[in-house]
Parts: sequence; C-alpha cells; structure tokens
Amino acid sequence: MAKRITETELILPSLYLMSLNEGRITTSELIQKLRDIMKPVGEDLEILIGRNDDKFSQKVRNLKAHNTFEKFGYAQYKGVSKNSYVEITDDGKQHLKQNEDILKYLLINDFTYTDLTENLRKVAQNQNKKKIEVFDENIIIQEGNKRLTEVSIYERSSKLRNYAIQCFTKEDRISCHCCNFNFGDFYGDDIGKGFIEIHHTKPIFKYEDDDIENTLKQAVTNLIPVCSNCHRMIHRNWKKPIEIQFLIDNIHKNGLFNRN
Ligand SMILES: [Zn+2]
Ligand SMILES: [Zn+2]
Repeated sequence: MAKRITETELILPSLYLMSLNEGRITTSELIQKLRDIMKPVGEDLEILIGRNDDKFSQKVRNLKAHNTFEKFGYAQYKGVSKNSYVEITDDGKQHLKQNEDILKYLLINDFTYTDLTENLRKVAQNQNKKKIEVFDENIIIQEGNKRLTEVSIYERSSKLRNYAIQCFTKEDRISCHCCNFNFGDFYGDDIGKGFIEIHHTKPIFKYEDDDIENTLKQAVTNLIPVCSNCHRMIHRNWKKPIEIQFLIDNIHKNGLFNRN
C-alpha cells in the first residue's frame, strides 16, 4: 500500500515547478501540477471529511501553513490572499540544481507514486550529503546529443546498459521482452545486432561510495530489455504509464505480431 506523502518529499518537485514557471507559482497551480507529475494514489486521494479537498491537496497547502520552504530557506510565500504565490530563493535554486539529475530521472521514467515518494524521501534524508548518482539512458535518448553536464550520467548509464545486455543476452541474442522483436534479425546483424533499449521498472540510485559492481548486480533485477517501439508505448502517456504485463497482454490480444 502506498505510504502517505510528507511535506519534505514535496519540496524538490515544487522547486522544480517554480523554476519552470519563472521562479514562482500559486498554491492552486502547485497542487494541480504536483498532482500531474506525482500521480498520487491510495490514502492521499481520500477526501477530507466536510471539505472538497483530498489529503494530497492538504499536504501541499501545509507547505505554506507550516512554513516548510522558509525553514530550509528554499522559497518564500509572497503576495496576499488570492494573489499569493511562492517564489524560489537562490538557496532553493542551488538545492534544485544539486538534485536536478535525480529529479529528472524520477519524473521522466514514470515510476509509481510509491517509488517516487520513497526515493524523494531518500534524497531528502540524505543528511550527510553523499552524492547520489543516477543511471539514465532515457535522458540521453530523449535529448539526443548529450550535454556536457550529462557526460558522467552517460558513462554510468552505458556501464549499466552493457551489464544488462550481457545479462539478458541468451545464445548471443537479445530480443524485446514484450514483443520479441530482434534488431539483428530485422535489420541484419551488420546494423542491428545487439541493439536494445533498457526500461527501468524501479529507480536505480548509487551513492558515491557504493560499490559499482554491487549496484549493477542489484540494478539488473529492475531492468527490462525492450525494443524502441515498445519502450515508446510504455512511456507514451506520462500521466498514465502502462504496466509491462498490460502491454504484453495487449500485443497478444491484438494478434498482429507473431510471437515465436
Ligand atoms: Zn517490443
Ligand atoms: Zn523506460
């Protein structure tokens, strides 16, 4: 069952939304946009007795009532009543910058509400400020050519990718887990052999002092080799990501693809 979200876990995504919106956002916009990117489920969707609000909205409102941003110095509420908004501070911008890769990774990969909140909690509780590293080839795939700041993610992700390919290759072949498409078979080995994309079913983090080999070994259980088409279908609607099994069932039901 999904645990309820806490205010601390809402800080980073809120700062991110402010930054996309010229540094400021009203509470009602914040509630709507946080809901879009966090996709809350379970108890957080329960309506509060005698009110039109659910528990998720209330948590967002509490950010203001409890001075949560101000306590950390990350943002400030300004303006009065209907015109009030919250604005990111320089410290907030810095905090966001430090954790931008993690946040982008969590949001782009359509993880579940539980996985999102759990990992935002880990980031928030990272008291001794260990550097957290992510593996994310989706950032690289989506943005085409990698930016300089992402070179380290690129290298890390390639390591995970190569390790995963090694694990999932059977008898010198690697095919899509969902539709069985094989790039080598279709395009010919010269072009397609060994090509595959890697879908993350759960977030994969590495703290700076974690052993890379160990991390890779654990990470591979949360990876699925998929063809580019199936991968796009999985992430087609980021507000409503689909489960792998649902995709497989639908491919079978549709009957066009001959799974051998
Ligand atoms: Zn496929
Ligand atoms: Zn994916």
